[in-house]
Amino acid sequence: MPRRPVAEPSPPGLGFPSRPAAGRPGRGGRAARGQRLALFDLDDTLVDRRAALAATLMRFADRHHLTAEQHGAVLARLGERAAISDFQAIRTLYGLAAPAEELWTAYLADMAALSVCPAEVLDGLDELSSRGWRLGIATNGPADIQHAKLEATGIGRRIHGVGASGPVGFRKPDPRLFAAAAVSCGATVEDGGWMVGNDPVKDIHGGRLSGLHTLWIGAPSRWPAHLQAPDQYRSTALLAVRLLLDGTS
Ligand SMILES: [Mg+2]
Repeated sequence: MPRRPVAEPSPPGLGFPSRPAAGRPGRGGRAARGQRLALFDLDDTLVDRRAALAATLMRFADRHHLTAEQHGAVLARLGERAAISDFQAIRTLYGLAAPAEELWTAYLADMAALSVCPAEVLDGLDELSSRGWRLGIATNGPADIQHAKLEATGIGRRIHGVGASGPVGFRKPDPRLFAAAAVSCGATVEDGGWMVGNDPVKDIHGGRLSGLHTLWIGAPSRWPAHLQAPDQYRSTALLAVRLLLDGTS
């Protein structure tokens, strides 16, 4: 497809790639060459995982009559990630009668039901998509829980692909995870794009290694001094989406 000039210039200093805006893509199809790509982290970027986890484990503690100390220990154990093996261990530690599979299934259902993506962010994803962006998720986590959260929050209907470390076999910041996420969107990191996330190493360092522009969800004063700064900062996912929208027409 021949390249043509961008109809309206990007705001100065944003570092948006100069490439033509494409028409609205069909879901799952191959992206037109030069199409814009935005990959988003999921947990604590588009979805408040900490809040969902706290609410889920409050239910878990009530359901299984855990003491406050046991509740705190489970919260700490699952703070970063959870797998069915954690529930096998928790079941043994606290003498729970339910099989680990049942505990895991209930955990997945509660995490999905209690995960929320703000309506304004969902609207912003719709707007990006209508402007020709390919939208994907680049996430460390097993496919089952990440997909359950994507569907329950409405994010899943608004994106073109998902790269989850479980099925992909690589974890952020490994560039192969980002490359897989881009391919799942019908795009390629070689054509550039953006990585948006809250983790300086996994999302921003990894995104840069992949050749993507980087947008950190955080305050500049909290950026780790030993790491190369992101291309852009915004304090919330909504402001990050608006930045991408401001750079395209
Ligand atoms: Mg995150």
